[in-house]
Amino acid sequence: MQPPPNIETIVSMPFAENTYVVWRDDRDDALVIDPGLQPELILDFLAEIRRKPAAILNTHGHADHIGGNQAMKAAFPDAPLIIGANEAPLLTDADANLSAPFGMPIVSPMADRTVREGEIIEEAGMQLEVIEVPGHSPGHVVYLLRGNPDRIFGGDVLFREGIGRFDFPNSDGRLLFLGIRQKLFTMPGDTIVYPGHGEPTTIGHERKKQSLCR
Ligand SMILES: [Zn+2]
Repeated sequence: MQPPPNIETIVSMPFAENTYVVWRDDRDDALVIDPGLQPELILDFLAEIRRKPAAILNTHGHADHIGGNQAMKAAFPDAPLIIGANEAPLLTDADANLSAPFGMPIVSPMADRTVREGEIIEEAGMQLEVIEVPGHSPGHVVYLLRGNPDRIFGGDVLFREGIGRFDFPNSDGRLLFLGIRQKLFTMPGDTIVYPGHGEPTTIGHERKKQSLCR
């Protein structure tokens, strides 16, 4: 069995968004998940650990989660940018990715690869399974890294004692609840969730605390 990966959280202001850098000791590359609005912090950290990204993954296309895509791709053009198939249009649409409504329009390079439910991403010595959990945004995915315990990079679906907003123009609260209930709360209780904002949590903790989704 492989040892657990290293996981570093880098917080970008002004939305306190979590970027995750994930890497294995025995490799010289890493995954960068949801590069936020302060990409220089991510680039500095990659230099510090002497790793280059094998891939850049987005859980969804909201501005605070894709704001660093351009800088990452500029520094590492060979690293594919990966996002859910139904979410890809948000990358290049400043209204849909909510940056224009917040008064700072940004766009990202286009995706190099789009993924759907059940697809496996094999990069940086890891296999991530794609799970579609739409509702916060139309094509939101979470990435499951199996291990002991399993780990989920969850974006804005499930937070520590909270869930993602579903009051945006293309949100759907019913779908969000359904996805959390059917796809996440059915996972083992010790599964660690690394959310897009705030501290990590576990599926077991959230199942107990969140009556809304039961
Ligand atoms: Zn979001």
